[in-house]
Amino acid sequence: MQHVLVTGGMGFIGSHTVVCLMEAGFEPVIFDNLCNSDTKVLEGIARIAGRSPIFIQGDVTDSAQLDSVFEAYPIRSAIHFAALKAVGESVSQPLRYYRNNIGGLLELLAAMQRHSVQNIVFSSSATVYGEAEKMPVTEDTPLPPALSPYGSTKQMGERILQDDPYFQTVCLRYFNPIGAHPSGLIGELPLGIPNNLAPYVTQAAAGLREALTVFGDDYPTPDGTAVRDYLHVMDLAEAHVAALRFLDEATERSAFEVFNLGTGRAVSVKELLHAFERVNGIPVPHRIGARRQGDVTELWANPSLAEQRLGWKAERSLDDMLRDAWNWQLRLVNQ
Ligand code: NAD
Ligand code: UDP
Repeated sequence: MQHVLVTGGMGFIGSHTVVCLMEAGFEPVIFDNLCNSDTKVLEGIARIAGRSPIFIQGDVTDSAQLDSVFEAYPIRSAIHFAALKAVGESVSQPLRYYRNNIGGLLELLAAMQRHSVQNIVFSSSATVYGEAEKMPVTEDTPLPPALSPYGSTKQMGERILQDDPYFQTVCLRYFNPIGAHPSGLIGELPLGIPNNLAPYVTQAAAGLREALTVFGDDYPTPDGTAVRDYLHVMDLAEAHVAALRFLDEATERSAFEVFNLGTGRAVSVKELLHAFERVNGIPVPHRIGARRQGDVTELWANPSLAEQRLGWKAERSLDDMLRDAWNWQLRLVNQ
């Protein structure tokens, strides 16, 4: 079994990916400092996969801790999820974001080099495209200056990996992952008031939050609300298995490859809200508010390159995402 280091593997996307890796016959080695996750996630993974994954509590900015993991396991590849991801917080605490996201990436790469590990899958984000002129965006769309320190850490991370061809990189630009494992045993665990739309919707529907504020209905879009490309976290998780296979097996690839991961479907805030109400048969209290600073009008993917080269395509529908997100929220409330 191939050992794969999964930094940030206790988090939202990481935990779902760990499940898919175990089901695909890989041996994930989770390395996470739990700054935005909880050890309870291990129980959920174990119940789904039938056994516990390897977990080491540690920080990617700590080279000695990283060395001990590479010494303990015959790691062939790394998936690097570990990062701080709150855009607003990155504006108020930029150094913390650069230290964690860039410092952590640099320490990880140095440790990989010390232990002769070349394959890496890097979590990037659609945020690197900023306010793109033409929709849907392809991987060739030029990247404008980042809108936040968070976005800047993703652009820089990509650049660092591109500059050093020792590393065989698959860089994945995620659009908007939502939903949860259909079992409801793992999902997203936002700390405090959620910044993102889907967890706010489920918490408002559960009565845990005030009404959802729709950030702006005066955008130049069909219903006036902003448009994104939401994809099921399980589809996204499966893309990481495809990326590892691509690194191992593709005969024609360059040292740095980048892929958009989305459905290619444009969905507005109002559309998501109404789909949630319809699918789950529950109203979501909401009101219209001002635009949120830094938000782009619309951003959705052309995901065809990932289909051609990774053999990956998002299969699950918006209804699946919203049903699974609600199922997970109900389990959390009843725990
Ligand atoms: P998450 O916060 O749920 O998971 C990240 C995990 O990394 C957490 O478990 C956290 O404890 C861990 N972590 C953070 N800093 C660490 C450090 N220094 N050392 C060890 N562990 C550390 O986030 P997520 O939504 O699962 O995102 C995973 C990755 O995907 C991140 O790189 C994020 O920037 C990127 N991404 C996420 C989204 C999204 O909408 N969720 C979109 C685009 C890109
Ligand atoms: N959004 C909203 N209310 C909220 C949270 C988000 O109207 O409480 C909107 C936000 O303005 C954006 C969309 O939902 O248009 C997706 O926001 P999210 O933060 O989930 O993702 P991102 O901004 O990173 O695309």
